[in-house]
Amino acid sequence: MARTYRTEAIVLKKHKYGEADNVLSLLSPRGGRVGAIAKGVRKTKSKFGGRLEPFSHVDVMLHRGRGSLQTLTQAESIESFDAVRTDYEKLSHGAAALDLLDRVAMEEHSDERLFGLALATLHAIAAATGNYARILSAFEVKLMAIIGYRPHLDACVICGASVSGGYFSDRAGGILCAACVATDGSCAPVSDPTIQRLRHLLGARMAEVEGLGFDEASDDDVARILRGFVACHVQSRLKGREFLERAAGATSHRR
Ligand SMILES: [Zn+2]
Repeated sequence: MARTYRTEAIVLKKHKYGEADNVLSLLSPRGGRVGAIAKGVRKTKSKFGGRLEPFSHVDVMLHRGRGSLQTLTQAESIESFDAVRTDYEKLSHGAAALDLLDRVAMEEHSDERLFGLALATLHAIAAATGNYARILSAFEVKLMAIIGYRPHLDACVICGASVSGGYFSDRAGGILCAACVATDGSCAPVSDPTIQRLRHLLGARMAEVEGLGFDEASDDDVARILRGFVACHVQSRLKGREFLERAAGATSHRR
């Protein structure tokens, strides 16, 4: 792969490093999560430091060196998402989305759907007028589907029986019938309307999510189910990713 290349990216995280540098976590469509150092960007005369804030959608030049961090040499703003950064509710829900992306995105892993979801979610949060929790739920359930944990919502995930008013298993990743509940210790009761809403959120475009006619109580139920489901699988995925990255690091040190 080219050592210097251009890509669009979303800034997920920013940490100060040394006197004047920042270390960034970026999400790119074809390279997944990229750790990059932007040198000198905290100096007042920096040409592009201000464009590299969390939430920013940018067009960047990156250079792959020997180390684990790539070097960012240029940045142009595509969209700054100032509307998300300057409103507390938008900021806190947007930050939760970026945090989850930072935890699930893999390095050197092309995933244009994940990038598309990230961008659509930032647009939805920027445009929303109040129901940020529902937008975050839609983001979470779509993200889980993209990374391989699409919840099974049409029949019992274990035996395939049709289910009405059942349980949701975080571990099995879907609804369970009464007979299968006993075999799974990670179940939470879930109502039929909540299952319907999860299905709606999976199918809806991000821009439509805020306008779906759910009541507030069902938004809370959906958020509760997703919180357990995300926590259950993202934790194990993180461990898997750390293992892979450590293994990759060990390989590159041996070279
Ligand atoms: Zn069953």
